[in-house]
Order: sequence, then C-alpha cells, then structure tokens
Amino acid sequence: MEIETIKLKDCDPNFAKEIIGAGGKKANVCFQCGTCTAGCPTVYAMDFTPRQIMRMVNLGMREQVLQSGTIWVCASCFTCQSRCPRGVEITSVMGALKNIAIREGITPQNKKGPAFYNSFLEVAMDHGRIYEPELMLRFAGRSEKSIPGALKSLSKDIPLGMGLVKKGKMAFLPHSFRRPEQLKIIYDNIRKMEGEK
Ligand code: SF4
Ligand code: SF4
Repeated sequence: MEIETIKLKDCDPNFAKEIIGAGGKKANVCFQCGTCTAGCPTVYAMDFTPRQIMRMVNLGMREQVLQSGTIWVCASCFTCQSRCPRGVEITSVMGALKNIAIREGITPQNKKGPAFYNSFLEVAMDHGRIYEPELMLRFAGRSEKSIPGALKSLSKDIPLGMGLVKKGKMAFLPHSFRRPEQLKIIYDNIRKMEGEK
C-alpha cells in the first residue's frame, strides 16, 4: 500500500475557519467518531468518506478536499448532520465546499459529479421536480465525450427505466407544476451562493 505523507507547508491552517465562514458550522470540532460515514447513503460512490473529509478539512488539506469527488456525490440528505454527536453541520460543510469549488473553477478528476449536479438542478428548475428520463439525457450529454458514448450510456439505463415506469415509480412524461417563478427565485439564489465570495 502506498503511504502518502502530508506536508505541513501544503496545508492551509485557516481552511476550517473558511468553511465555517461559508456556512459549515462547527467544522472544527469533529472528533472522528465516524458516525457520519456509517449512515451516509452515498458513501459507496465517494473517493473520501465524510469522516475523512472532516479530517482533511481540519488538517487544512484545501486542494485535496476541493478536488474530491465526494463533495459532488453528497446528496444533501442531512443524515450525517442529524446524527453527529458534536453537532458538526456536515451537510452544510459539503455545500460550502461545493460552492467554493464552483467559484474557483475546481473540478474533480471524475467529471461525472459536476455533470450530474448541474443536470439535476436544471431539470428540477424546468419541471418543479425530478423528471428522470430528461435527467439521464442531460447527464449523458454532459458526461460523455461523444454522441455514440452518450447513446451507449443511455442504452444501459433503458431497461431499468422501463422497469420503473411499469411499476409506477417513474413518470413517462414530465409533471406540470404551479408557480415556476417561485422556483426560479430558489434557483437564482443557489447560483448566487455558488458565485458569492
Ligand atoms: S459524526 Fe461528527 S464528530 Fe463524528 S466523524 Fe462525523 S463529523 Fe466528526
Ligand atoms: S448529507 Fe451528504 S455526506 Fe451527509 S449522509 Fe447525506 S449524502 Fe452523506
């Protein structure tokens, strides 16, 4: 196993404070119990677990954390935040990290996280809720390098999608919704937060 040495000169001692300032309350009081990781439903797809991210934040590993795919995979479900014995607002930490990464134009090696995030936001904005077929279409278009690649990726999801439609778990056509102007205010605020210093 390769062991990586953390060099103090590469660490930012103010990183945890920066995250607290950006909305991730109590980011500096984590005592590494791992409860957040144990309950996280998307940990299987993360490159660093939520506990590891909290450790890295407190060590000041700014670059590694902001390049991590984890912050894009977090589903903002609040399970970790509601269970943390130290009251660390982990979901808000993840959100703050994502906003900083967007603002500074930092993307993870695996571009699928940002592609999914942006596709999800756009579909929710257009339909008032998630309309899966369009989400997968936009995601494939963004995350694959070529049209054949996107079609291949989509074709893998078709059997699953058909199964969901048959069981009534997924709508074949998008839902209509009232007051799109109110949703636009939320969407604009999200994009504003991503651009705020
Ligand atoms: S649950 Fe809270 S204290 Fe425990 S590792 Fe996660 S952030 Fe740290
Ligand atoms: S908010 Fe994010 S990190 Fe926390 S449990 Fe949910 S998906 Fe995992």
